[in-house]
Amino acid sequence: MVRSPVLKSKLVRDNKAEDRDLYSGLIRLHVLHHAVEGPIFGLGMMEELARHDYRISPGSLYPLLQGLEKKGYLRSTEDRNGKSLRRVYVLASDRTQTARQPNSGTSCPRGRNRRF
Ligand SMILES: [Zn+2]
Repeated sequence: MVRSPVLKSKLVRDNKAEDRDLYSGLIRLHVLHHAVEGPIFGLGMMEELARHDYRISPGSLYPLLQGLEKKGYLRSTEDRNGKSLRRVYVLASDRTQTARQPNSGTSCPRGRNRRF
């Protein structure tokens, strides 16, 4: 996403309110980018974001996902997998890919020209 290490480290270093807004906006965009590709869930998304060097804690990510749902971008369902129950988010449109399995976050290749 932000391929510029300079910009990213500036965002982290300065840590001003407006920069934090931009940083969390980038994370939101990245989350939506993956939700377009298929269902996502919190832990998988956190690993995916970490792969892109975005640092976000569960305490920040889950409210972010809930916020996106509240705003109508995402829709969530509970997915029971054996004993564990996890919340799976899909893009809130009529064309969601309900038949697809949650995205483990491996579909976003690290590429020099890749923006997301
Ligand atoms: Zn990604």
